[in-house]
Amino acid sequence: MSDCLFCRIAAGELPADIVYQDDRMVVFRDIAPKAEVHLLAIPREHIASLDELNEGHDALIAYIMRQLPRLAREQGLSSGFRTIINTGPGGGQVVFHLHVHLLGGSDLPGFH
Ligand code: AMP
Repeated sequence: MSDCLFCRIAAGELPADIVYQDDRMVVFRDIAPKAEVHLLAIPREHIASLDELNEGHDALIAYIMRQLPRLAREQGLSSGFRTIINTGPGGGQVVFHLHVHLLGGSDLPGFH
């Protein structure tokens, strides 16, 4: 059994509020939302962070990015959304399985 939290969510071993999944990615609600809508989009493959990406991941990452606008629309975010990827301790990353935060809605905090 993996000791990676998000691998375990992707495998269905831990509960999560999953809003979308397919053979390459899983999208679920953040357990401590920072905005009205706060999703996490992850690859099923364990990639620790952006720092671990190689050329072999290009198609997977492009695929995940391409799903985000549709997922945002499905959450009612018709006027736009914010994406964040924290990388490494210096970037505020606490879960070391690559994830894209997708945030939006009325409680979206400022970011300047
Ligand atoms: P990061 O700081 O970019 O590594 O973000 C990790 C995110 O994972 C945080 O926003 C947490 O609230 C979220 N998180 C941690 N555990 C869970 C969980 N079991 N289910 C959903 N989200 C989680």
